[in-house]
Amino acid sequence: MIPYACQTITQTDIDAVTDVLKSDFLTQGPQVPRFEACVAHRVAGQYAIAVNSATSALHIACLALELGAGDWLWTTPITFVASANCAVYCGAQVDFVDIDPDTFNMSVTALRIKLVNAEKSGKLPKIVIPVHMAGQSCDMRAIYALSEKYGFRIIEDASHAIGGQYEGAMIGSCRHSDITIFSFHPVKIITTAEGGMAVTNQPDLAQRMRLYRNHGITRDAAAMTQPPDGNWYYQQIALGYNYRMTELQAALGISQMQRLEEYVARRHQLADRYDALFKDVPLKTPFRSPASYSAFHLYIIRLDSGPGYSRETVFDHLCAAGIGVNVHYIPVHTQPYYARLGSAAGYDAQSFPEANRYYQQAISLPMYAALSDVQQDDVVEALKQVLL
Ligand SMILES: *Cc1c(COP(=O)(O)O)cnc(C)c1O
Repeated sequence: MIPYACQTITQTDIDAVTDVLKSDFLTQGPQVPRFEACVAHRVAGQYAIAVNSATSALHIACLALELGAGDWLWTTPITFVASANCAVYCGAQVDFVDIDPDTFNMSVTALRIKLVNAEKSGKLPKIVIPVHMAGQSCDMRAIYALSEKYGFRIIEDASHAIGGQYEGAMIGSCRHSDITIFSFHPVKIITTAEGGMAVTNQPDLAQRMRLYRNHGITRDAAAMTQPPDGNWYYQQIALGYNYRMTELQAALGISQMQRLEEYVARRHQLADRYDALFKDVPLKTPFRSPASYSAFHLYIIRLDSGPGYSRETVFDHLCAAGIGVNVHYIPVHTQPYYARLGSAAGYDAQSFPEANRYYQQAISLPMYAALSDVQQDDVVEALKQVLL
């Protein structure tokens, strides 16, 4: 079975983790700050806050930006549910912005129209979460310009995009956002098993995210309501969570980070090979924006039904041939949980037609650094069998 995504674990990774097991700290030791410094440096952001998942990173990012009841958060319907759930955790309401049919990212045109209408009805969003789908950056320059005009904050969901660039700057440099979050789930570009990171250039946001990661507890006397009782003293000054990353995960992350560039380069090689091998096959290969250097987390093709096949039969044929394809994603607004919230939020299943159309046609093909050319050829052959 060739999976659609798969981690790569080397002996160096294993040694890094076992070293931690033999050390004094399994949690709250030196590895997490080292991993944070490593990621901050690599993505050219000022502050990095490691957490136990990207979902937690999204949650503390929303909390740091003071999202709460009565607020709106907008994201794209073509994302993992976590990009929307973080708003609901904070008691806020969620709405969606349709996608651009080429990039599968949030459409700037749709965003602009929606903002004009929201301004009239007094329902402007407090936060917008663009998702860099498949690793290719959204049009951040345009989204940032709209944030200046309409006063919303931006969290980049870069779960797919560590190692990618936009307009020559690393994704994570937060040039056009308040916070960027990354995921280290095993299917993503690098892994810590479970794990995530929030990156920001704003010290107050960094401080608040650290607080929310650790129960809302501080040991910083300057943040306390009274002088410390003694050296044991800490105060809980907000309601936070235990979202800490372990030392084992951080050590694995540091080790994996050494190969980030290599992994993204290999993903590009594979993407170029897919593009070339599909030259005369009736399917749409991924569009590449000239402003973006994608991390190529996913290689998503779109196909129309043809003589004797549909997306469903192609999907089933590939699975039967031992090829682990996937669909990213089922539009979030059609998930029963969000469908229930839709009548209050003003959307229904027919809203966001580009996202719905995309969902009928998309298939994610195997894409990961350890995928061999021979395996990739097998994927292409299996597809040709049914499409040609
Ligand atoms: C994977 C993913 C997440 C959640 O990441 P976890 O680390 O599993 O919590 C959020 N958003 C997107 C777009 C993702 O792909």
